[in-house]
Amino acid sequence: MNSFLPAYFTESVTRQYGADAAERIFEGMAGRRKASLRVNRLKAEPADVEKALTENGIAYERMSWWEDAFLLPNTMESELWKLPIYEQGGIYLQSLSSMLPPLALEPKAGADILDMAAAPGGKTAQMASLTGNKANITACEINKIRAEKLQYNLQKQGATRVSVMVRDARKLEDFFRFDQILLDAPCSGSGTMLESDPRTTKAFSEKLVRNSAATQLQLLKKALTLLKSGGTVVYSTCSILEMENENVVKAALKGVKAEIVPIGIPDLPPLPTSLPGALCVCPTDSYEGFFMAKIQKK
Ligand code: SAM
Repeated sequence: MNSFLPAYFTESVTRQYGADAAERIFEGMAGRRKASLRVNRLKAEPADVEKALTENGIAYERMSWWEDAFLLPNTMESELWKLPIYEQGGIYLQSLSSMLPPLALEPKAGADILDMAAAPGGKTAQMASLTGNKANITACEINKIRAEKLQYNLQKQGATRVSVMVRDARKLEDFFRFDQILLDAPCSGSGTMLESDPRTTKAFSEKLVRNSAATQLQLLKKALTLLKSGGTVVYSTCSILEMENENVVKAALKGVKAEIVPIGIPDLPPLPTSLPGALCVCPTDSYEGFFMAKIQKK
């Protein structure tokens, strides 16, 4: 059943979670994953989205954990591209799991926020939507082409208080200070693998996991430097491997005065984590595997 998955992944998952949970993870990666969208409050309300979907005969489910999240059980993403509400930026196609880190961060109006690894910008725009464009967001992205896509998405969604920086976030000057930081780190993508989409398994390798973990640690250490005292950072990856998640957070926090703040988003399919307060989402037909931890600097 899991023959499409790389052996290093299945072995690592079985070692980390045990045979029963590993089986659940592999089942969640078999077949397809349902499409989902986020309401962009800068341009639309949930009622507008319900109306547009109903008029076009598109079935949807609402999520108990957030009124702006819609799951589309029977619809392909490409069917949404032609809807005027999509063309006008009133909705953004975003996986359910990737909506969680900005919710965990709870971006505040008036705050100086850094999105350290921002393209293509789903979470940057979500933070602009959550704050009604009232936070000062700096969106950093190392890759120039991806930064252009980020800029395009922000403009389309009407996210007006975002400055895009094309930079390696590890090299940001240490004198910057932010109230809130989102580090949605580059990762192996191990939580996104799907039988129906060979692109999701192609790049995965042990080397990628190890290289990602090294970069993630450098980025998280930088985030903790750039954070004001009392400020919070949310560290997230779309990987479910401890080498990129719990181990990175534990290593970054060594010698730093900071604590983990529990993330209390309900009704998600959980995976066990060795970091109390962190949240690890099990891959299912609706959710990608995802990890996040919220850290407050003292
Ligand atoms: N947060 C994005 C979203 O929600 O649309 C997805 C971010 S993706 C997981 C990670 C991004 O980090 C990629 O666009 C990658 O090019 C960028 N990246 C990788 N290393 C980086 C670095 N050192 N500094 C800044 N960005 C980096």
